[in-house]
Amino acid sequence: MTEQDWGSIYKELGARPVINAIGSVTLLGGSTPIPEVKEAMERADDAYIPLMELEEKAGEAIAKMANVPAAYVTSGAGSALTLATAAVMAGDDDEKIQMLPNTEGMKDEILIQRRHRYWYDRCLELAGAKLVDFGSDEGTTREDLEQAIGENTAAVHYVAMEQTPDPHELSLEETVEVANEHGLPVLVDAAGQIYPLENFGKYVRMGASFQCIAAKYLGASQSVGLALGSEDFMRKLSLQSFVGYEGRRIRGVGRPQKVDRQEIVGAVAAVRHWMTMNHEDRLAKAERMSRTVLTCLLGISGLDAAIMENVIGHQPFGVRLNVDPAVTGMTNDDVVTRLKEGDPPVWTRVKEGEDFIAIHMFGLRDGEEKVVGERIAALFDG
Ligand SMILES: *Cc1c(COP(=O)(O)O)cnc(C)c1O
Repeated sequence: MTEQDWGSIYKELGARPVINAIGSVTLLGGSTPIPEVKEAMERADDAYIPLMELEEKAGEAIAKMANVPAAYVTSGAGSALTLATAAVMAGDDDEKIQMLPNTEGMKDEILIQRRHRYWYDRCLELAGAKLVDFGSDEGTTREDLEQAIGENTAAVHYVAMEQTPDPHELSLEETVEVANEHGLPVLVDAAGQIYPLENFGKYVRMGASFQCIAAKYLGASQSVGLALGSEDFMRKLSLQSFVGYEGRRIRGVGRPQKVDRQEIVGAVAAVRHWMTMNHEDRLAKAERMSRTVLTCLLGISGLDAAIMENVIGHQPFGVRLNVDPAVTGMTNDDVVTRLKEGDPPVWTRVKEGEDFIAIHMFGLRDGEEKVVGERIAALFDG
């Protein structure tokens, strides 16, 4: 591909391709399938396959690699969350499965620490469940959870964010302990908890009934996700899915959340690659690219730039930027806007709740890190 071809498929439509310095975000397309995934997807083209069978076999392969009892490929981690809530409410009762999102006669409350309320918790409500907070903004105790459990409680949700440990949360260990005492399943959003490798499936091994993983972080299509869990839970989850809807003629809420057969085998290939690749190389490359960006920015007055390092998850290194408006006449938000206005647009962001621009390497092609560094530096010329 020549540089002139860059983004041409989008330009032909009159749409404007961008350089992605934000990282793996859904808004920009999530991820680019790695060659191993593309090859698997292509090999899936020449035959059809009953999806109930493919889901079962793909699930077995993924479960084995993740060292958990069972797995299921879903339409993103978001759908895994929705199907999991349907599974805890309707179980394997076909009448209830077909009633959702009407939850009459079902336990339909999902408990969540108030500190864990997050962007994706809407996915927990789509099948008809109601979110009930416990604890406060300041912190969560065991007693808070015990008091919140009632006769309509269907499950307890936990959001795993090991990149940013929260000393005031109720830990997963304690959440599982209390939930178990009350016979309740624990659901874990571990969408980005894929490194170190032992984190892949760890929450199920710690006693959660379910955890999800977003394949967008793994080099698969961003439209797939993984549900991991006990055999019984994965069976119930599968009954809610679009495959169950068509294969069993039982109309569950998961019908609009389709996955292609190509994507299912692609997800298997992505997990296989992730579990066997050389992660030292992955970390070294991200660090090298980050240093290239940083080198372009050293010595610019009013611009504070530093390497970010957090090897947990999928974005190990990056560059953190802070501009001094008094010196540069620009705010961080101005920098983000001006980079977007350039040609080609470079997308960066100040993440909600943060006060710096974070540059990530995940979405950059080889060599684009230099373009990003130079484009930022050019904003401060003269
Ligand atoms: C990305 C993400 C999701 C949603 O995953 P999709 O695969 O995009 O549906 C859910 N939870 C967390 C923590 C995520 O980072």
